[in-house]
Amino acid sequence: MKPAPFHLETPQSLEECVALLAEHGDEAKILAGGQSLVPLMNLRLAQPSVLLDIGGLKALNFVEENEQSFRIGAITRLRDLERDANFAKSQPLLAEALPHIGHTQIRNRTTVGGSIAHADPAAELPAVLLACGGTVKAVGPNGERKISADNFFHSYFSTDLEEDEAIAEIELPRWKPACGWSIQEISRRHGDFALIGIACCVTCDDEGVVTDANAAFFGVGEAPHLVESASSLVGTKADDETLHQVAEATAAELDPPTDIHVSAEYRKHVGGVLARRALSIAYQRATGNIT
Ligand SMILES: Cc1cc2nc3c(=O)[nH]c(=O)nc-3n(C[C@H](O)[C@H](O)[C@H](O)COP(=O)(O)OP(=O)(O)OC[C@H]3O[C@@H](n4cnc5c(N)ncnc54)[C@H](O)[C@@H]3O)c2cc1C
Repeated sequence: MKPAPFHLETPQSLEECVALLAEHGDEAKILAGGQSLVPLMNLRLAQPSVLLDIGGLKALNFVEENEQSFRIGAITRLRDLERDANFAKSQPLLAEALPHIGHTQIRNRTTVGGSIAHADPAAELPAVLLACGGTVKAVGPNGERKISADNFFHSYFSTDLEEDEAIAEIELPRWKPACGWSIQEISRRHGDFALIGIACCVTCDDEGVVTDANAAFFGVGEAPHLVESASSLVGTKADDETLHQVAEATAAELDPPTDIHVSAEYRKHVGGVLARRALSIAYQRATGNIT
């Protein structure tokens, strides 16, 4: 299928892109990697009359780390992060998520900003951003603003971004040495969107006692979901009994939909199993028992 006719603009800066968004309103769409937008246009589910191609904006293609945080420019391609040998040391949870996202060909084009802006509830990156306590930097006609991940994802493919705002970058806290991580998901075939998945981080003190635990699910409803049950690990050494209780509490807390792929009951049950598995692995990594 072919898309409806459109006019292509190639803004030379994010400011120009924002000005064009303000000028054209809901007629305009940003084109980043095109891996979601172009199929939607081909199916005529999206029919923007103006496309703003930001793929050439080199200023948005960067990875920068300082003492507090780790920033990734919106147009940075997933495959470039995957190929960066140091990336997994700096952001191990995000690095572990990358191979789950589509296939190499998809990751060659997919951008960090595109994946976050598209906000597919079954996507990995939004859940990683949520589990890590990250933020999104958006730029609009009135300047820039930072939006925490827990306020950014509203519903199916819907975010806090205004019509005339664009994502400039995402920011993650600098990774702490005592923090373990894991991402686990169930999909029918490798590269398919997850039927359900979890991304988590667990931090411990020198005695191996959990001081912080966050777990975000994807594929469980309209947006990535941070579960409260993970906080029960805090103050424990994540023994089998505690993990069992967290798994049960997670399954009870999740309220996923039934769809053409699987039932809500399946997702609740598997959610508990994945929570136990992921949090156990994250704890063992935090305490240095596995790498
Ligand atoms: C076969 C296949 C399998 C896939 N499997 C997975 C998977 O397992 N997991 C997964 O997470 N994804 C998967 N994807 C989706 C892929 O990662 C998408 O490309 C991603 O959702 C969007 O990134 P993009 O850079 O291609 O954005 P585009 O397709 O260019 O844009 C997507 C949307 O985001 C908006 N947008 C893009 N950049 C910005 C910006 N900087 N500011 C504001 N709005 C912006 C666009 O206007 C558009 O509405 C798959 C895609 C395909 C085709």
